[in-house]
Amino acid sequence: MQKKKVRKNREQWDEQLLGAGMILFAVIVSMVSLLGKAPVFGENKEETKNQAVKIEVPKERIEVITKETDKKTAKSMLYEGAVGKLEKDNEEEPLVMLDPGHGGVDGGCVKDGIKEKNINFRIALLAKGKLEEKGFRVLLTREKDAYISKEDRAKFANRMGADAFVSIHQNTFEDASVFGLETWYDGKDAEGESQRLARLVHGQTLLSTGAEERELHGDADFHVTSSTQMPSCLIETGFLSNREERDNLKDAQYQEKIAEGIAQGIDLYFHPKTMYLTFDDGPSEECTDMVLNILREKNVKATFFLIGEYVEKYPEVARRIVEEGHTVGIHCYRHDYSVLYESVDSYLEDFQKAYDVVEKITGVKAKIFRFPGGSVNAYNKSVCEDIIREMTCRGYVYFDWNASLDDAAGAESPEELLANAKATAMGRKKVVMLAHDRVYNTALCLDSLILQFPEYRMEVLTTDVEQVKFALP
Ligand SMILES: [Zn+2]
Ligand SMILES: [Zn+2]
Repeated sequence: MQKKKVRKNREQWDEQLLGAGMILFAVIVSMVSLLGKAPVFGENKEETKNQAVKIEVPKERIEVITKETDKKTAKSMLYEGAVGKLEKDNEEEPLVMLDPGHGGVDGGCVKDGIKEKNINFRIALLAKGKLEEKGFRVLLTREKDAYISKEDRAKFANRMGADAFVSIHQNTFEDASVFGLETWYDGKDAEGESQRLARLVHGQTLLSTGAEERELHGDADFHVTSSTQMPSCLIETGFLSNREERDNLKDAQYQEKIAEGIAQGIDLYFHPKTMYLTFDDGPSEECTDMVLNILREKNVKATFFLIGEYVEKYPEVARRIVEEGHTVGIHCYRHDYSVLYESVDSYLEDFQKAYDVVEKITGVKAKIFRFPGGSVNAYNKSVCEDIIREMTCRGYVYFDWNASLDDAAGAESPEELLANAKATAMGRKKVVMLAHDRVYNTALCLDSLILQFPEYRMEVLTTDVEQVKFALP
């Protein structure tokens, strides 16, 4: 109920302004290109490199604009920024489209003389500056207090080939006690890119502002989030109807914090950290399938360090791991420390047995492996250096881990496992996360685990990845 009303308010402006007869930005673009000299943007990124590009506009639209606006006005609208101008010096960098909600005759939410459109605009300008400092190319859907329809905002972003679109708004509600930050995205894209963008913008802005979190909504049906062809989201930075939040929102320092969060979220979206999800001790009868189902649904690839005797026991599951594009490494044939680490030879013998079984059943000639208990553990102190030297000589690459669900211990709840993962990852740029695909709670929390790390791109381990390894004793 409540949410619905809040949303209705946001969309009202579009209805109110239908047929308002404002000059559409596409027409302005065409007008300026008729004028010739102005540094307008082109149809696509390729063309912006050089100079103004003529955009084909139906003749009758040109007549409308020449009738209603003189050339000087059209030119000044461009220079004052009725439409965005693009810096042209860093073509390699992603193009971000920021969309300050409302503008011109459409003020958005208005409370106590404070107009949403103006705050949106200031936040967008600040975020633009921060993103440009990071090297991004940034365009605004409006560069001054002008009305631009929601259709034209989306069209502009599509035509410019923007790589991300973030719409900036504030909320209002009849109950003044309601406050907090919420972000919307259209959850229909199969790759989940809009969701990742929304999660990052949402999470980073909460961090930078300390604002109360309301919700992250995956069912946005706004024109600017559904008609844009690139990952997009809409952030409601707070409620103008709440006194305390209104005081924050009109405060320049607070606006700075919002802009910082938005820019940081966008930056992390384009420059993610890397996480290698690794699963030891499988395949198992039930959990591995649960894990594989979630990975498939989330479009995430992981690395599985297999136990030979279980590969023999569950060959179908082992094959499924390979068929679904995950990487397979060797863990051991039998997970028995006292036998494995009795001597260099006993280790090598077990390893070879596991290697052969994995190759026979899955067809994979594994090049990477993980020591049971890690490369240095309580059971192998006297032999680990020799084993590592021999295995390295034979061309195998091992990976320890630098973060863990600590799920091997047993009885912990999914929530505890998630907390362990977060605490041990410590925001590192490169995380090798240890998990076990024979622990039920691990399968239960995997979905949340992936969602909890939107700032990470999930990759598989290869022999080219720089090793994460424990220090030798
Ligand atoms: Zn709004
Ligand atoms: Zn193990």
